[in-house]
Amino acid sequence: MQNAIHRNADVLVIGAGMAGLSAAAALRKAGLEVLVLDKGKQIGGRMATRRVGGATFDHGAQFVTARDPRFAALLEEAQTAGVAVEWCRGFTPEADGHKRWRGTPGMSALANFGSIGLEIVQEKQVAAVSLMGDHWLIRMADVEIYSAGAIILTAPVPQALVLLEAGGIQLEQALKTRLSAIQYERCLAVMAVLKGPSLMQAPGGFAPTHGPIAWIADNQLKGISDEPAVTIHATDAFSVAQWDQNRDETARVLLSAAEKWLGVGIKSFQIHAWRYSKPKQTDPLRCAVVSLSPPLLLAGDAFAGPRVEGAALSGWAAAEAVIHATRPVQNL
Ligand SMILES: Cc1cc2nc3c(=O)[nH]c(=O)nc-3n(C[C@H](O)[C@H](O)[C@H](O)COP(=O)(O)OP(=O)(O)OC[C@H]3O[C@@H](n4cnc5c(N)ncnc54)[C@H](O)[C@@H]3O)c2cc1C
Repeated sequence: MQNAIHRNADVLVIGAGMAGLSAAAALRKAGLEVLVLDKGKQIGGRMATRRVGGATFDHGAQFVTARDPRFAALLEEAQTAGVAVEWCRGFTPEADGHKRWRGTPGMSALANFGSIGLEIVQEKQVAAVSLMGDHWLIRMADVEIYSAGAIILTAPVPQALVLLEAGGIQLEQALKTRLSAIQYERCLAVMAVLKGPSLMQAPGGFAPTHGPIAWIADNQLKGISDEPAVTIHATDAFSVAQWDQNRDETARVLLSAAEKWLGVGIKSFQIHAWRYSKPKQTDPLRCAVVSLSPPLLLAGDAFAGPRVEGAALSGWAAAEAVIHATRPVQNL
């Protein structure tokens, strides 16, 4: 039996990370009716902040940099709104002096800022995207169905391809080859509440060159946590090797490797596994066009740069393509 369509929208954006939020904001500004769906309890995707008592952790993206003027302008706006501040200009004495921004009180504040004015439905997991005449149908994991004139899909590329395949969307061979080649690093992230301040020095971030740890950040020195609290990111190699092992034991291995920078006991810890952490390679284009009539585009950090800024640029590029496709330029 055919399920009833739960909701129609001009454009449906799948994913409320930086790419999806940027795309949705640009579409809304252009006057389109846009709805964002995300499977998570929080918006922001990999820009994630977690609280444990008086401790606050950024456990995904650690900071944001801006090379593109449009993204730099967005950060200035966020700063004026009080949700972004400069963290530092590098983590070593020989650093490049380039500004590293952080969200305040944490990275998720930047996502919350980007979501202002948008209609977002959380805890909605899309299961398949299919074509019905001149519309897209989006089937949820709970069998609810949405319909849209255009779609921007911002889940990490391997997950996006699964949704298209589940809905019987055939990709042109060259595009399929390009997209199937995109792989991501994995990252096991440990969040530990400490019994006292760590031995780390300001500004509180450090990328070891050897061992299982790729990055360690003292969230108190960073200025986001009342209690001493560190985030430890494992390397891709270590995360892949330990992926199916006991997570608590893996966290203990990482905490023990971090001991020389902590120098203090651990009160409690949690671990989060990022299956899709950062793209290992990016596509040469800012977004991927699956179809323009009706529009279906893929966007995210796999397209315009493997970081928050790239995700925003990709979201904007996808939004522009949808705006052009849905509102053809008139001959005057
Ligand atoms: C550990 C780690 C450290 C990082 N450090 C930095 C850093 O310091 N600086 C930096 O610039 N970048 C960093 N990054 C990368 C940065 O976080 C990403 O480049 C950026 O956040 C990607 O944004 P996005 O919108 O493309 O994807 P995401 O943030 O992954 O958003 C995709 C969204 O889609 C949703 N979704 C997926 N599938 C479905 C579905 N089926 N149905 C509904 N919703 C779905 C997800 O819930 C998610 O919210 C880091 C990432 C990680 C994981």
